[in-house]
Amino acid sequence: MACRSVFDASAVKSDFESAGISPNFVPLVWKHVLKNPNCRWDEIPSLPSAAYALLNSKFMPCTSTLHSAVDSSDQVTTKLLIKLKNGEFVEAVVMRYDTRLGKYDGKPRPGGPRATLCISSQVGCKMGCNFCATGSMGFKSNLSSGEILEQLVHASQISAIRNVVFMGMGEPLNNYAAVVEAIRVMTAPPFQLSPKKITVSTVGIIHAINKLHGDMPNLNLAVSLHAPVQDIRCQIMPAARAFPLEKLMNALQKYQTISQQKIFIEYIMLDGVNDEEQHAHQLGKLLETFDVVVNLIPFNPIGSLSPYRSSKDQRVVEFQKTLRGTYNIRTTVRKQMGQDISGACGQLVVKRSSKTANLITDIEDLHI
Ligand code: SF4
Repeated sequence: MACRSVFDASAVKSDFESAGISPNFVPLVWKHVLKNPNCRWDEIPSLPSAAYALLNSKFMPCTSTLHSAVDSSDQVTTKLLIKLKNGEFVEAVVMRYDTRLGKYDGKPRPGGPRATLCISSQVGCKMGCNFCATGSMGFKSNLSSGEILEQLVHASQISAIRNVVFMGMGEPLNNYAAVVEAIRVMTAPPFQLSPKKITVSTVGIIHAINKLHGDMPNLNLAVSLHAPVQDIRCQIMPAARAFPLEKLMNALQKYQTISQQKIFIEYIMLDGVNDEEQHAHQLGKLLETFDVVVNLIPFNPIGSLSPYRSSKDQRVVEFQKTLRGTYNIRTTVRKQMGQDISGACGQLVVKRSSKTANLITDIEDLHI
């Protein structure tokens, strides 16, 4: 029975090999599906006849469907709600803006050439960060590498995607094998994204960070630090108990020494929790020996799902000033985009009633 995604790379390649078909045909199949996600296998020209039989019996071009695509009023952001084969939903967000043009007036420009896709790696998440709506869902399932790549296929029908950020639902490094496999496909034909245009964001899964560079050199690593000391981290991110800050910073130091790459630090600004001057100094001291970019993220309230409030704008500005002025750390403040479609910084929870799916709030925006 045809059931797996043809983008489940290791499955399709090993089935091709077992059937005596060269796996070199697989990228040709992907290229066709990328342009025609609803194609039939017999529409793909020039495959060996055994390949058609194999594809028909075991694989589908896309196992997921695009349930809805909603544009923000400024057309900069499009939120994709994708229905998986198991009936669950994930969200991906396309952001089209040209920061090179935008710098003249400080506004993102619609239709810019550098579309970025924010992608999900799990349905729900087990890390339980208590400022995050996805965390409140608990963990439901891991996406397969094919389901991760299908988000890129659906998004590519809407915009040419140049950057991918794993900042959607789920903790990517808790679904390590599928994420690594998906990235390997993304960086090869027909997708051919540069690894430098792919960012994996993690709460800090130390054992996975330790092997990430060996498996996936040149990726961007973003770490959701969100607090400068262990006790605040544990308070807002329960998973931090398993990944103590000191050990995490040691792992990041090692990662940076080996990779020689900048690390992106995500820091959500929570009023009265982690946004005071002493926290800025603690964070500055923690990071001053690293080559990092800190991205301060104004918190989007998520209703009764979280007790936190957004930091005042002035607080965010002062925090940035301390990191920049006292510690010489490059620090940006994340732009809020797509709020009218719940496509701004926040996290996703999908609530379903019989046949409809309503997004309460959704996934993280990004720094690129
Ligand atoms: S912030 Fe990320 S890691 Fe934490 S619960 Fe939400 S999705 Fe999971």
